Amino acid sequence: MPITIRSTRGTVAESLFEALFRGAAPDGGLYLVEGLGSLRDLVIRERTEVPPFARFAGEALSAMLPDLSPSEGWEQVATRAFPFAPRLQPAGAHLILELFHGPTCAFKDFGARFLASMLEAELARRGGRLTILTATSGDTGGAVGSAFAGLDNIDVVILYPSGRISRLQEKQLTTIGGNVSAVEIDGAFDDCQRMVKELFSDSAVSAELHLTSANSINLGRLLPQSLYYLWAAAVLYSARDGSADDVPAPYFTVPSGNFGNLTSGVIAFQSGMPAAGFLAATNLNDIVPHYLSSGSYEPKPSVATISNAMDVGSPSNFERLQTLFSGDHRRMATLIRGASVNEETTRATMRRYYEEFGVIVCPHTAVGLAAADRLGVAEVPERVRSVVLGTAHPGKFCEVVSGATGVQPEIPDRLQRALDLPGESVKMAPEAGRLIEWLRRR
Ligand SMILES: *Cc1c(COP(=O)(O)O)cnc(C)c1O
Repeated sequence: MPITIRSTRGTVAESLFEALFRGAAPDGGLYLVEGLGSLRDLVIRERTEVPPFARFAGEALSAMLPDLSPSEGWEQVATRAFPFAPRLQPAGAHLILELFHGPTCAFKDFGARFLASMLEAELARRGGRLTILTATSGDTGGAVGSAFAGLDNIDVVILYPSGRISRLQEKQLTTIGGNVSAVEIDGAFDDCQRMVKELFSDSAVSAELHLTSANSINLGRLLPQSLYYLWAAAVLYSARDGSADDVPAPYFTVPSGNFGNLTSGVIAFQSGMPAAGFLAATNLNDIVPHYLSSGSYEPKPSVATISNAMDVGSPSNFERLQTLFSGDHRRMATLIRGASVNEETTRATMRRYYEEFGVIVCPHTAVGLAAADRLGVAEVPERVRSVVLGTAHPGKFCEVVSGATGVQPEIPDRLQRALDLPGESVKMAPEAGRLIEWLRRR
């Protein structure tokens, strides 16, 4: 079956790059890839050792998207994008798939760096410049800024709400410099998002200023997130005790907000990766767990929690999940279970994992562990391994973590360096006209 890139609402993109440059589809839907190559042989393969992540990722991309290889080849793209790797670490009855060893200490580095690597290669081939314009409520901006930092043909402009992101998050945005500018908006995150939307919806302005979005619905951020699920499944397979037919099936618990991460896991599964199932773990923003148990989808305004990167009341990737299951609630609920975890349980879980196992986790990962424990996903037949995705480094959420556990988490050098540097940003009123003027003058 040839590969087709189709929006959840039907429009077909001419190429992978068209989808990457556009972000959202012109019909308002989200792009998905149809006809991905089978990934089963990549996981179920006799090997003495699974290759290092970047090499494995190159192999996986070649298997997934054989027809769409950029001219330099997938291995090159993956090597440039992933100078860091996931790790599997035991925590009680679970394995934590640590996804926070990248430059900004959260899993969003995988998506942002892959997208940057792809756009850089394509611009080098066809020439031209572009400006990535993005709004952030905290974590995304840092990952995107860091991923595109220092690239020749791409500028990045990040809007963030003044006084509403953490000091560390602000430092991560404002200390990059060079081709990455931070704009501090006198308003809320919704104002930032509205300004960005206004510029994108004006096609004359967006063409004049060569604007591209790098937001979390971009297909270029979704595809690479399948790679670490596959890597984990391959590592578990190569470490199995049983016979060749005794295929271990990981059960993945995914701390979720916009559900991009979980969607990437489902895509890997539907392309042949062995898995026993998925657990969608949310904080108090329980729209998807509620849908899974009741069949009724009721988005609502988000509630603020200590796992703030998951404070989403209307998950943008739900439309993708629905398409992947052909709108069939029963099919989705057969593969994916849901659980919502309150604040008290999240704190108690951070404390318990530290006291019982000496493992310090961020509040998002704690939501995953609490959900996995409540549903007993590790108490299953031997063949099944519980894998909980570790989405951020605990040092990124120092105050919450030390409040819950009584100990200061280690702060990685790369975070400490940002904290020590003076930040720089442009202050701006929340008006799209101001932003256009400023972009023209630059
Ligand atoms: C973004 C984020 C999440 C949620 O991921 P989604 O793909 O939006 O579901 C969870 N944890 C952390 C630390 C994040 O930054």
